[in-house]
Amino acid sequence: MTYVERVLEELKQNNPNEKEFHQAATEILLTLEPVINAHPEYEKAALLERFTEPERVIMFRVPWVDDKGNVQVNKGYRVQFNSAIGPYKGGLRFHPSVNLSVIKFLGLEQILKNSLTGLPIGGGKGGSNFDPKGKSDREIMAFCQSFMTELFRHIGADTDVPAGDIGVGAREVGYLFGQYKRIRDEHVGVLTGRGLSYGGSLIRKEATGYGLVYMTAEAMKERGESFEGKTTIVSGSGNVAIYACEKAQELGAKVVAMYDSNGYIYDPNGIQLDVVKQIKEVERARIKEYTNRVQGAKYVEGCKNIWSIPCDVALPCATQNEIDEESAKLLVKNGVKYVAEGANMPSTLEAIEVFQKSEAVFLPAKAANAGGVATSALEMAQSSGRLFWSAEEVDAKLKNIMINIYHNIDDAAKKYGFDGNYVMGANIAGFEKVADAMMAHGIV
Ligand code: NDP
Repeated sequence: MTYVERVLEELKQNNPNEKEFHQAATEILLTLEPVINAHPEYEKAALLERFTEPERVIMFRVPWVDDKGNVQVNKGYRVQFNSAIGPYKGGLRFHPSVNLSVIKFLGLEQILKNSLTGLPIGGGKGGSNFDPKGKSDREIMAFCQSFMTELFRHIGADTDVPAGDIGVGAREVGYLFGQYKRIRDEHVGVLTGRGLSYGGSLIRKEATGYGLVYMTAEAMKERGESFEGKTTIVSGSGNVAIYACEKAQELGAKVVAMYDSNGYIYDPNGIQLDVVKQIKEVERARIKEYTNRVQGAKYVEGCKNIWSIPCDVALPCATQNEIDEESAKLLVKNGVKYVAEGANMPSTLEAIEVFQKSEAVFLPAKAANAGGVATSALEMAQSSGRLFWSAEEVDAKLKNIMINIYHNIDDAAKKYGFDGNYVMGANIAGFEKVADAMMAHGIV
């Protein structure tokens, strides 16, 4: 039994019933074998045992009163996974599916993603099984205030800096920050994704989508290509999708299809993004409405068939597991050249295998969507310096970061003999820096 296999076996025994955490740990550790084999000193230092065990797990109750006067109780979590290279950093997710296993899986992934940005941020994740859907503003505020009334004692601008994630947007970040400031009497960068009027950063909203396109453009440049004239599909029509579409179009791509959770629009003349923005960002209506406003576009109920449209570039930017094996095979058959993940885990394991066996370049989420957290780290830098950078300044830094990540994962894959395997490249490049810092710190 190899060192990696032994650690995985012990991890499953010591953390029973945490299936998402087992899955993420297995995927990550197996791709790290070449690095582990090259560093026998890691086993002696029990590095992997420490890497997969969070530094601290905080679990607490979150009591609050709903609009009918009933007392509700939710579970709150913050997993402070690894601070070897910087303060814990990672989002808060409010969703009924949240449990310790989900938060640990996301936290483990976050360590590597944050390391890849090249910025000094460690890995953490948190949240609650609270469901914000259908709650009044007052209920959301009551919940956020109660959540922060416990969380405040565990976080800080130099300790742990949470951000938003699913179910935690600008409104929730505002309420959480307001309560932190009130209890601590400190106006500091303790949360990112803040509003521009109280310490937020320009380009944070656009960062994940823009970053995704910057990295893909770099992969193209290395192959003597560009977005110019490339038929592109961007799935989703939320924050990541809209800004991925915007930047891809700016670079000359012809984006022909997008969707929301009901169905997709196909516009052979190229999507008019201002119409999509008006429908999704302003009116919060359904994307189907697009066909009433743009001639020549068609709407198809259901999402999956979007991947049957022939394209050069696929940018899945909606949700997990949106590309399965069958869709991946269709994309490859139709000649897709680049697949870059804007969403977290949008391709199933089987789909990834299909892409990796094909000629297509596959850029995994951990690297390709790191522009969001990278810009959060830029928000932290502005907060500590009491500065406010221009949009051009933040955008230029973001672009640089994404280009660097691409080259780091490319180099790491090559170094270990897996040229072009960016799944391995991303895991290895992210891990090497964290491992190095952990070894330097001694047994802690
Ligand atoms: P939004 O909520 O803004 O948008 C999500 C989009 O996906 C919406 O258009 C939504 O449709 C659609 N969608 C959701 N579920 C499904 C489904 N089951 N089938 C089809 N479409 C679906 O989220 P974001 O754009 O912020 O995030 C998208 C993904 O990117 C997530 O995986 C997130 O974790 C990841 N991510 C986001 C970052 C960020 O900075 N925002 C950073 C890194 C990763 P509808 O309009 O109908 O709800």
